[in-house]
Amino acid sequence: MSKHHKYKSYGPQYAVTPREGLTLEILAQAEKAGAKAGHAVAKEQLYRSIGNSSALNEQQTGELLAAAERAGAAAALSAARKVLDKTLRTSFKHYQHAPAPASPVDPPPWAPTETDSYAETYEEPLAQHVPALGHVEYPMKKVDQHVLTITRIERLNDQMVRIMAGAPDLDGYRSNGAIDEYVKVFVADSALGLVPPYDLRDLRRRLPREQVPRSKSYTVRWIDALVPEIAIDFVVHGEPGTIGHWAGTVQPGAPLVISPSRSKSSVSLNADYYVLAADEAGIPAISKALEALHPESQGVALLEVADQNAMFDVKHPPGVVLRWLSRDGAPAGRSTVLADELVSLPLPHSRIGVIAHAERSAVKEISRVVQRWNLDKRATHLSSYWTLREGRMRR
Ligand SMILES: Cc1cc2nc3c(=O)[nH]c(=O)nc-3n(C[C@H](O)[C@H](O)[C@H](O)COP(=O)(O)OP(=O)(O)OC[C@H]3O[C@@H](n4cnc5c(N)ncnc54)[C@H](O)[C@@H]3O)c2cc1C
Repeated sequence: MSKHHKYKSYGPQYAVTPREGLTLEILAQAEKAGAKAGHAVAKEQLYRSIGNSSALNEQQTGELLAAAERAGAAAALSAARKVLDKTLRTSFKHYQHAPAPASPVDPPPWAPTETDSYAETYEEPLAQHVPALGHVEYPMKKVDQHVLTITRIERLNDQMVRIMAGAPDLDGYRSNGAIDEYVKVFVADSALGLVPPYDLRDLRRRLPREQVPRSKSYTVRWIDALVPEIAIDFVVHGEPGTIGHWAGTVQPGAPLVISPSRSKSSVSLNADYYVLAADEAGIPAISKALEALHPESQGVALLEVADQNAMFDVKHPPGVVLRWLSRDGAPAGRSTVLADELVSLPLPHSRIGVIAHAERSAVKEISRVVQRWNLDKRATHLSSYWTLREGRMRR
């Protein structure tokens, strides 16, 4: 091991000995633990205040948690520094007077090397390398949620809205580039004043089930890395408490909390003729597939919507015919228009690729029809995007 190495955790890099590196590592751990403890204590207080109906608003809650983290980290750091300074001084003295080892053995990484002169360098080793309290970077939570702010909302039709949201560097969100890229969207009851990102494990322990933020899958419609902005199309439906209801009532300025990017299948777009089908929940994913197709592609896209007025702009290669299929007043999830239309499709004798995303029973029907076509399994991507449950919320 080289005598000096870079210690990166504290802002600018310092060349430090392995021994100092270990010390700094201990300090970093202490600081992290302190921040966590401070955060937990403040959260406990916050939950109590929610119970007493004296909840703070979002900004006050954020400020309180940040202050608690700072105080916890500073206290733990200062305690660890005192102990370490004392320990290092003692062990250094001990080292100076220790007899030379009888046979050469591998020293532990933190042991001083022959050229280390602690008599010269050890005065306040921690003071040399640890930045002043107040300038330390506080530990980040494990990132499994990205918190964006809703910037714009567009109505696509009576049943669908497009929500656009942004944040500097999209709060660390990275696209996986998949055609079916999707995220979990997390929604909390705004009356509870919870501040994202949500510590779901903790909230599940503390809150009744119906108050824990819910999360559901949503296709990433597009990402504009320059702005930077992300767009998701939501079907507006359901009771208060569902994400479908939230999407119809939320306003710009509210948070849009999303998971890191996911994808279910690697959709291959190498067919000669495409058959695409979706209800409103699947239209965003099918729209992305249409945009990804070669401009010369041939096929048909069946898009189920509530009525004839619900059509909106969907880009597609000129050789792929768009057919908007109206449910004609039937409730979502109760129509068979997609499977009915598929049965009567004239199909060319060429390699056919099928992609369908819709309500569970509709997908089952589509699957029955497609099985009769005897296609290569790798050319069919059918997935159920939601399940009709009579008026019930699903967590
Ligand atoms: C990979 C993937 C990508 C998806 N992408 C999108 C997307 O881009 N846009 C989108 O809107 N949805 C999308 N969905 C579907 C979405 O996740 C579900 O509709 C989800 O159940 C909605 O949650 P909720 O909280 O609103 O309703 P839930 O609590 O799940 O359900 C409450 C009630 O609403 C009904 N319901 C649920 N979804 C719908 C619906 N779409 N239309 C009518 N009634 C419904 C249920 O039957 C139930 O009665 C996607 C699903 C998957 C798996």
